[in-house]
Amino acid sequence: MIVAAIEAGGTKFVLGLAKSDDGGRALPDLIFRESIPTTTPDETIRRAADTLLEASARHGKPDALGIGCFGPVELRTGHADWGCVTSTPKPGWRGAAVAGPIGRALGLAAAFDTDVNAAAAGEGRWGAGRGLTDFVYITVGTGIGGGVMSGGRLVHGAAHPELGHFKPAKVEGDSYEGFCPYHRACLEGLASGPAIAARWGRSAQELPAGHPAWEMEAIYLARAFAAFACVLSPQRLILGGGVGLRPGLAERVCEILGAELNGYLGWLDDEEARKAFVVRPELGANAGLYGAVALAMWRTESERGRYRENFIFRRLLPKIVGGRDESTKGENVDAFALTGATIVTPRGIKTSSSLVVEGERFAGFARPSAINVAIGPAIVYPGLVNVHDHLRGNYTPRVGPAPGTFYVNWGPWDADLKASDVYAERANITVEQMYFLGAWKNLFSGVTTVNDHFPHQFNEPFIDRLPIRVIREYCLAHECSSFDLKWGDGMEIEHRWAVERDWPFITHLEEGFDAESQDGIGILERAGCLTDHDILVHCIGFSEEDIRKVKKAGATVAWCPASNIFMFNTTCKIRKLLRADVNVALGTDSTHTGSINLLEEIRCGRDAYRQLYGEDLPAKTLFDMVTINGAKAFRIAKETGSIESGKLADIAVFRAQRDDPFENLVEAKMEDLELLVHRGTPLLGLESRYAELFAGENRPVTRIAIGGRDYLVLGNPAALYRSVRKAIGFEKKLEYLPFEP
Ligand SMILES: [Zn+2]
Ligand SMILES: [Zn+2]
Repeated sequence: MIVAAIEAGGTKFVLGLAKSDDGGRALPDLIFRESIPTTTPDETIRRAADTLLEASARHGKPDALGIGCFGPVELRTGHADWGCVTSTPKPGWRGAAVAGPIGRALGLAAAFDTDVNAAAAGEGRWGAGRGLTDFVYITVGTGIGGGVMSGGRLVHGAAHPELGHFKPAKVEGDSYEGFCPYHRACLEGLASGPAIAARWGRSAQELPAGHPAWEMEAIYLARAFAAFACVLSPQRLILGGGVGLRPGLAERVCEILGAELNGYLGWLDDEEARKAFVVRPELGANAGLYGAVALAMWRTESERGRYRENFIFRRLLPKIVGGRDESTKGENVDAFALTGATIVTPRGIKTSSSLVVEGERFAGFARPSAINVAIGPAIVYPGLVNVHDHLRGNYTPRVGPAPGTFYVNWGPWDADLKASDVYAERANITVEQMYFLGAWKNLFSGVTTVNDHFPHQFNEPFIDRLPIRVIREYCLAHECSSFDLKWGDGMEIEHRWAVERDWPFITHLEEGFDAESQDGIGILERAGCLTDHDILVHCIGFSEEDIRKVKKAGATVAWCPASNIFMFNTTCKIRKLLRADVNVALGTDSTHTGSINLLEEIRCGRDAYRQLYGEDLPAKTLFDMVTINGAKAFRIAKETGSIESGKLADIAVFRAQRDDPFENLVEAKMEDLELLVHRGTPLLGLESRYAELFAGENRPVTRIAIGGRDYLVLGNPAALYRSVRKAIGFEKKLEYLPFEP
């Protein structure tokens, strides 16, 4: 791989390209290196980007980008100023954006950190911190700064460590008051190069060995290091920088450190151990660049690693939609008609009609059939379409922000989820079980088509066996921003494939409030990826201009109000989207943040709309959002999404409780679902009415009770439920399964 690296300093930016053939195990080769002076932010950043673009034209396009930057900087990925220099005294640079503009120019997500954290990353990977989980890198030169590796991670915390501004006890007889404009006599104020020069009237380079300046310098550093040793418990301290590298200094610091600690830290009692405790960096003149390379590699690995699976995705090109493996399901009824029915069709509501199914498809509204079933007081809808779910994430209860707080983007949610008890409990269940739970969740809410927004290699092993249609033909990104999870092969490539294959391109977008989240449409637009193939999920950061662009492009917005409100206390500008006539489809997201199922999501959407605007979202609009709009978004509206002759027979029959069929659907609960048919095959049906449709040889039909009524079901969700309970060791209630096993 090739990595673009930037050591962004206050006087110069060092730019480089590094090449590694072994995934960065050995120190990569620097195949390009150039310095440019740091002038104004605009000029410097443009030159940095141009220089790297030119270099990549000659040496190869980089796969990743790392930036170690002079500070202070904003490192919170969710923050509006992420990637910016913050409160620097350097003229013009306060608030200057670094990572965002360079990343966009190169088309890469930047790994961004302080210069000293970058140096620590480099030393940790290839230098003096190799193999250690906890160490401190400290540079003593024109300033003093430190990067901290703790438990194998670079410490950021609320911002990032500022080791140079620790205040050591003054050395007796030192009358110099210190020069730090904030603290005067902090470590930087007393022991950096300028402090030495101010105190002794000569620069550090000019002071000979044996000069009392060096003893004083060693004492200050030793006092600081003793504090770092006590507070951070590092395995090693790496001392670099123009002053820090002075011959003999590290050794003298070690000796004094022993006296300072006075035998308290037992593991440093031994002189040899102490000598190995304070060491010099090993990466030399290119340490800053290598640090930036390490940041980029580290980020790429941790993000890919989080979701790495052994399965290698077979790039299949079958046309139309996964679905059940018919060969294992025995003989299906060839043809049947639902009679005396109220049917919701694109041309209006048909009453007292017959709906005829032949094979996999609808065959009109009148012809008599071999099997005729009177549906009674119920209404026939097309099978519902859930535009956005993560099938293996459907576990309960939800995991969210602390009470009274909300997230700025998905990042902290992911961290909270992974740290939660629920997630640990879920880990007892296999991925296969999770996929089946997710599919049944959808099935019991009348859904016959759903997308699993995960990379293909996750769901490909299961799609053919799941009871409902899980969209197989899609391209994706996780989220078009620099902190996404690198699903798929990158936004541009995935989008191009989507267009070539006439598939949807699905991505989370603008799920948050930080600057980058708010620029999602800009990112897509600049990459040429904003088109009618797009399904843009969440979009809560959309501006009115964004909405106009989405409408013009013909993209779909996947609206997940329950998840949005739970995580962010708001949702997208839904009324403006609808007034702009954008195609909006409703999605549940997973039950880790969203509602229990699509039926609940419909009600959540209506409630949210009423709360936001004080008016009702029409039930017909909601119906479109869970049927034809989703089918259009998936580019399969010719096959499903409405009841029309020739389309696949995807049917959801709900008990009639309201005269208006759309209002009836808005109020429908799981126990109101009386029949579900996918591609002509009945999957779930009230036994008292639809038993005939489940007859036939060798059919794996089981019986469950929902809302006090017996149902026949193709497959065995009760066995799944039991196996899940067994795996986790107690009688877990999964609210989307409307029965007791
Ligand atoms: Zn200070
Ligand atoms: Zn999602």
